[in-house]
Amino acid sequence: MNESVLAAAVGALFGAVIGSFLNVCIVRLPAEQSIVSPPSRCPKCGKPVEWRDNIPILSWLLLGGKCRGCREPISILYPLVELTVAGIWAAMAYHYGLGVEALTGAIFGTLLLGIALTDGREYIIPNEFSFGGLAIGLVLSAVGGLHALLLALLGAAVGFAILWLVGAVGTWVFKEEAMGGGDMKMMAMVGAFVGWQGVLLTIFLGALAGTVIFLPMTLLGRKKLVPFGVFLAIGAAVTYLVGPAIIAWYRQYLGVG
Ligand SMILES: [Zn+2]
Repeated sequence: MNESVLAAAVGALFGAVIGSFLNVCIVRLPAEQSIVSPPSRCPKCGKPVEWRDNIPILSWLLLGGKCRGCREPISILYPLVELTVAGIWAAMAYHYGLGVEALTGAIFGTLLLGIALTDGREYIIPNEFSFGGLAIGLVLSAVGGLHALLLALLGAAVGFAILWLVGAVGTWVFKEEAMGGGDMKMMAMVGAFVGWQGVLLTIFLGALAGTVIFLPMTLLGRKKLVPFGVFLAIGAAVTYLVGPAIIAWYRQYLGVG
C-alpha cells in the first residue's frame, strides 16, 4: 500500500477515537461536568453505553441512530463529529506523513471544531479548549526549537492583546461588553499555532465570514448574540491551510517580500 494512504488510514482511526472523545467534551465541558466520569449513558433511560455501542461512527449506524435500551433517537451530530475529526486527522497524516507536523495540524483542527460547536450551540468557549489548547500548541512548537517556541508565544500574546483591545474599544463605544473573555483566550491559543501574522489574517477572515453569514440573519431578526468564536474558528482553519500563501502574496503585493 502507498505510504501516504497508510498514514491516512492510521490518522482516520486515531481521529475517529478522538472525535468520540470530542463529543463527550462538547456536551460536558459547557455544563462544567467531568469528561472522565461517569461513563456515557442514555439521557432518557439512563442505560450506560456498552463498549460495542460506543464504536465511533459504526455503532450509530448499526443501532440505526437509536438507543439500544429505549429506542430514543441519538443525534446525528455524534457520528458527524466523529467522521469530521477522522477526516481532519486522515488529511493531515496524508499530507504531512506521520509526525509532529501532522499531529499539530490535527489537534489544531480538532480544537477549532470543538470551539465552533460549543460557541455555536451554547455561546461558551471552554477553557479546556482555549488555555488547554494553548499549552498543547506551545509544547508542540517547542519541538521545533527555541525560536519556534518564541514565535508561538508572540503569536499567543498578539492574539490575546488584539482581541482585548477590540473588546475594550467596543465596550467604550457601545457601553456594553463587546467581546467575550472566551474569544480572547481562544485567540491566544490560535496565535500559538499560526503566529502573529496568522492572528491578523484569522481576525480579518473571521470578521469577513461573520459579516457575510451573520448580517443577513441579524437583519431578519433571527439571532441577537453573535457566536464570534465560530467565525474565528473558520478564519483560523483557512489561515492554517492557506495563510502562508496569502501572507506571501500580500508581502509581494506590498513590495516588502
Ligand atoms: Zn435509552
